[in-house]
Amino acid sequence: MEERYEALKELGSGNFGVARLVRDKKTKELVAVKYIERGKKIDENVQREIINHRSLRHPNIVRFKEVLLTPTHLAIVMEYAAGGELFERICNAGRFSEDEARFFFQQLISGVSYCHSMEICHRDLKLENTLLDGSPMPRLKICDFGYSKSALLHSKPKSAVGTPAYIAPEVLSRKEYDGKVLHALFYIIIKCDHI
Ligand code: ADP
Repeated sequence: MEERYEALKELGSGNFGVARLVRDKKTKELVAVKYIERGKKIDENVQREIINHRSLRHPNIVRFKEVLLTPTHLAIVMEYAAGGELFERICNAGRFSEDEARFFFQQLISGVSYCHSMEICHRDLKLENTLLDGSPMPRLKICDFGYSKSALLHSKPKSAVGTPAYIAPEVLSRKEYDGKVLHALFYIIIKCDHI
């Protein structure tokens, strides 16, 4: 890891560990690395995150690059989204114009629809997991497939996962639910609520 990449700064942290901005020493390319401590934390969810994320290739999904092991951590190397979270952008703007909301919403549903066409549902879509690249007309990038599920590889979604403040009612009912429908509903709510 250290031979190939130099660490530049911390990007954020979650319950899994930390995400850092690093530079490829050879190509000078900037990439983001999510570090997860080796041991108990490398569970079924991490396994799904890697398997599902690496199978996706779409302009509106943070590109998965590779997984490396350090003596202490598992490191998921991915495309760096330099524009930060959509959450921040909405907070800074106060509210979006209809044109701007449409611009991001179209990209969002394009990425979500692609995931669904690959039979993968994300299950934790929220503004904090919706990043932007650094260009003037930002390209939206969905990240964090830690709760994702594949209809081809895994059982039907049933467990109550996601982020409490955003969770859909049927997820709490503890019956089987359709992960794809949830996304559609959820984002219509977010759109009305925040945009
Ligand atoms: P968590 O499991 O805590 O949601 P994330 O993978 O979403 O972990 O990463 C935590 C934070 O790190 C994100 O909210 C984001 O601000 C930052 N981050 C993660 N991946 C990237 C990336 N590819 N480019 C830029 N920032 C990122």
